[in-house]
Amino acid sequence: MKLKLGWLPAKLNDLIERGEESLPERRIFARAVVGSVYFKGENEAMADLTVRLATEYGMVVLKRDNKDIQFLVNYFETANWPLNLICFFEALMQQTSGRARGAVSQGPATLTHDDNRGFQLESAESELAPRLARVAMPGQMVLTSKVWHALADALEGWTSASVLHELAGFSAPVPTLHLHSRLAHARKCAACSSSLEVKQTAEGYIFVACSQGHEQIPELPIKLKRAA
Ligand SMILES: [Zn+2]
Repeated sequence: MKLKLGWLPAKLNDLIERGEESLPERRIFARAVVGSVYFKGENEAMADLTVRLATEYGMVVLKRDNKDIQFLVNYFETANWPLNLICFFEALMQQTSGRARGAVSQGPATLTHDDNRGFQLESAESELAPRLARVAMPGQMVLTSKVWHALADALEGWTSASVLHELAGFSAPVPTLHLHSRLAHARKCAACSSSLEVKQTAEGYIFVACSQGHEQIPELPIKLKRAA
């Protein structure tokens, strides 16, 4: 089988090489989570970086050029996609100094694969996500309300703004939430100067702490829940 090398998570590549999994000719997702990253102006190096990080965090890259990269966030049904998505988003923003613009939407989709065309995703989300990535400010990820509902309870300390977008070709305005990156400008830990990471508590809360475990409390929390 001819694979587009580097576009699949290593775990999936391994399973395919061992013959334990094959790429589906056709698979239906009731709730596909479709992500898109946009760079204003072509940027091959940053597009390469986006593809590498997306596959590192378990996403299947569906298509890319040097401006737009599109990926399926929840290919693996058992994966913790909200954590993967936030880790990917923050790693991307950190490594591009906040130059990327992202968007994620969720809805029904049909994924097909053939050796000639690679992956094709038939879904309204694959139209919507790149449009929303274009209305993000650098360092933001625009989430549709479905994605926000899936993430909101777990996120601790991110700032966000709700925005209604009128998009040409869409009959109603699209309610979204613009999530601001916390690591885009890669502050070091205030207490010990070591680097910051996205982490998750056993209860499922996603937060930012340094490698020594000092939790970072943002200056302007819109929502800040304690895991008791
Ligand atoms: Zn620290």
